[in-house]
Amino acid sequence: MLRNDQLAEWDRENFFHPSTHLAQFARGEAPSRIITGAKGCHIEDREGNKHLDAFAGLYCVNVGYGRTEIAEAIAKQAHELAYYHAYVGHGTEASITLAKMVLDRAPDHMSKVYFGQSGSDANETNIKLIWYYNNILGRPEKKKIISRWRGYHGSGLMTGSLTGLELFHKKFDLPLAQVVHTEAPYYFRRDDLDMTEEQFTRHCVQKLEELIEREGADTIAAFVGEPVLGTGGLVPPPAGYWAAIQEVLAKHDILLVADEVVTGFGRLGSMMGSDHYDMKPDLITIAKGLTSAYAPLSGSIVSDKMWKVLEQGTDEYGVIGHGWTYSAHPIGAAAGVANLKLLDHLNLIQNNREVGAYLNSAMRDALDDHANVGDIRGEGMLCAVEFVKNRDGRVFFDAADKIGPQVAAALAARGVIGRAMPQGDILGFAPPFCLTRAEADEVVSKTVQAVDAVL
Ligand code: PLP
Repeated sequence: MLRNDQLAEWDRENFFHPSTHLAQFARGEAPSRIITGAKGCHIEDREGNKHLDAFAGLYCVNVGYGRTEIAEAIAKQAHELAYYHAYVGHGTEASITLAKMVLDRAPDHMSKVYFGQSGSDANETNIKLIWYYNNILGRPEKKKIISRWRGYHGSGLMTGSLTGLELFHKKFDLPLAQVVHTEAPYYFRRDDLDMTEEQFTRHCVQKLEELIEREGADTIAAFVGEPVLGTGGLVPPPAGYWAAIQEVLAKHDILLVADEVVTGFGRLGSMMGSDHYDMKPDLITIAKGLTSAYAPLSGSIVSDKMWKVLEQGTDEYGVIGHGWTYSAHPIGAAAGVANLKLLDHLNLIQNNREVGAYLNSAMRDALDDHANVGDIRGEGMLCAVEFVKNRDGRVFFDAADKIGPQVAAALAARGVIGRAMPQGDILGFAPPFCLTRAEADEVVSKTVQAVDAVL
């Protein structure tokens, strides 16, 4: 086995890490973290340190680590057929079975699923399908996509543009011109503190209507949104938000994409976030929870309404020119089938609902009165704690204070991993669904210690 210092040196010399401060890492100011194993909700590093991973990797290891059922399904698939493509009607038992399992769990009006590799490429697929759809319908000018500030939809050219977080635009010449952003449905950060939640929903709707009016409804193809804002701060929508937004979209014949990369397959305590908020999307993006990250696989679930037009398009123009080498990769599909079975067999969504509610209420009991805690919010197995300099009048810290990262580091030093969300001083939790009440208690008690150490 390689020595730790050798591995760390190779790491710094050769490995371009995503979402990392490159210069600090190269100078050795940020540690090289080498993870060697994991079981349940815990991960272990090369030094033998164990951490309770209360963010499930990047909120993706939903069924927890070390599930032999999934590992065995992957190994069996790799032995029998590691790869064959899905072009021109090819499939495998795993990919066909998974497509059926996904549609069985999606809202009734959905029709087909297109498999990709990552959440980003699934969203790229969605935008291409939307453009194709409007071209087939003879309205080539209806192409702009609306997304929300603080939305996260990926890191590609189009998906990085849809993402409404400055970090992902800065110095990359994004967003692209076809994307326009609207108000984030973030009640805690509303400008007018006197607004009720219902008034704030009406304010978001009014902002959307103004944007549509300004751009022209005949130029706008779709609205993309996560049922609950994820990377932008783990923010459930204000009361009545999705019903009111959908009314506006229907009025202007604008398609709805529900980006369920985080919320799909149980994270909110319902099978899909679309069901949770009574959304009727035209496309649903799925990834992380589809395989619980045991293998990379994503999907775009297409509605009946869109599917009919896509079919019509191929009758007019021939084969649809969109495919990835790894579409419906058999190993990813086998992981997906085993993962969705496990969710059912172990009743993990129900556990998620119960323990998620317990975690949220315990966090509120422990920190609601803290002078520097402005908001504690969550839904299902998502929980966020937002820090403020002063609760009265809601005064935020300066970004340079890095309060969120400091609290996350203090928490990690105590053996629990949360995530400092990239914009604002927000500590996020999205544990695996198998979290126990005792583990939830540990997350809360160590968070209190970490907050007290920093603030
Ligand atoms: N959409 C949402 C809502 C996400 O949270 C993410 C990733 O966190 C993505 C899309 C992009 O997925 P990926 O990182 O697999 O490309």
